[in-house]
Amino acid sequence: IKMDDLKYIARRRNLVQELAEKGIIAEKVLQAIGKVPRHRFFDKTLIDFAYEDKAFPIGSDQTISQPYTVAYQSELLDVKEGEKVLEIGTGSGYQSAVLEELGANVYSIERQEALFHRTFSRLPEIGYHIAQFLGDGYKGLPNYAPFDKIIVTASADIMPQALREQLAIGGILVIPISTTMYKITRLDNDTYKEEKVNSCAFVPMIHGTN
Ligand code: SAH
Repeated sequence: IKMDDLKYIARRRNLVQELAEKGIIAEKVLQAIGKVPRHRFFDKTLIDFAYEDKAFPIGSDQTISQPYTVAYQSELLDVKEGEKVLEIGTGSGYQSAVLEELGANVYSIERQEALFHRTFSRLPEIGYHIAQFLGDGYKGLPNYAPFDKIIVTASADIMPQALREQLAIGGILVIPISTTMYKITRLDNDTYKEEKVNSCAFVPMIHGTN
């Protein structure tokens, strides 16, 4: 281990402690956050802030989500080893990495080409192997459905019907709509349980690609 990494390991441990104090209780989520080198998802100029519990710019007008939000959504998703998980909004790839540490088989969609390409090469360099797609997350990935879990990391203006339909029976969708976080559970073919949970701040989910 390089000296450099030791510095970040200590900071990461403090971040995990901070998230526990803020109310994250799922031990496996805290452990996953404790493993992902968040500094490697940052541009060099911001690297010193990598273990602050804040969102930061990642280019293309987007942000890497706040660690608390990543932990909170991951906790709601309740990922189990080997589950197939779809993420909307790859962004920096940090949330994808946390999901992989939780044992998920991760599929992720990003609509912005520049971000998609950067993260496409970055994730394998760091050691994560996610199936990445350039496309419109409102449509999901019908060819790969059903998914055990779906997580949306940008705030949607409407409930995307396609995503509900791509859930497996018993599957969970965690999605912010405007400023409200929803946890949707598919009980059977046409019954869904809808729960409103805590609210969070997100960048908007935009229709189409660019
Ligand atoms: N999960 C990311 C968070 C990035 S912010 C991370 O851990 O870094 C949300 C991301 O959603 C942005 O990259 C944005 O470009 C993307 N996004 C917005 N609308 C989208 C859509 N319709 N389909 C796919 N991605 C979308």
